[in-house]
Amino acid sequence: MNNDIKEILYSKEDIAAVTKKLGTQITKDYADKKPLVICILTGAVLFMTDLVREIDTYCEIDFMDISSYGDATESSGQVKIIKDLDKSVEGRHVLIVEDIIDTGRTLEKVMELLSHRDAASVKVCTLLDKPARREKVVTPDYAGFEVPNEFVVGYGLDYTGFYRNLPYVGILKPEVYAEN
Ligand code: 5GP
Ligand code: MG
Ligand code: MG
Repeated sequence: MNNDIKEILYSKEDIAAVTKKLGTQITKDYADKKPLVICILTGAVLFMTDLVREIDTYCEIDFMDISSYGDATESSGQVKIIKDLDKSVEGRHVLIVEDIIDTGRTLEKVMELLSHRDAASVKVCTLLDKPARREKVVTPDYAGFEVPNEFVVGYGLDYTGFYRNLPYVGILKPEVYAEN
């Protein structure tokens, strides 16, 4: 699995450090707000679980699954709701947690859905921001790293369902795509 990686962009230590920094900022910003932290499945699950451990105030967790990618490295252009939230966001301070914002389609869809549900506030925290390919006007309130225009895997991000369990974020070797 590690042999399929051309270059490590962010090590386990880099990710831990940036997550701690984001958590500290979020702790300050949400001190009296008891935020509802929403993890966008599946990619953000590793980041969210590490991030909430750096948030030192009351918060709740919920999950939403919105899919715009099949197994390919390019978005299908269609955004589907696979799993909605269990909790109500009404009157709540919502913090959406994403693995990466690429075209912005997924986030735009989530924002649109939530806009009808009377949250007190909605903000976005993403581990990775890839602004080069943005199609929609969406900007994260908190971002770990700005990534180059490359398809990355690891720490939650997959290619054909694999590589999510890599502890770092890296770029796949081109020959790995050629095999598929
Ligand atoms: P968007 O809707 O912003 O184009 O993409 C959002 C979703 O597409 C992310 O949550 C992620 O699951 C997937 N995605 C976008 N860019 C990448 C990438 O470079 N690598 C991987 N593995 N997934 C990506
Ligand atoms: Mg995702
Ligand atoms: Mg994916």
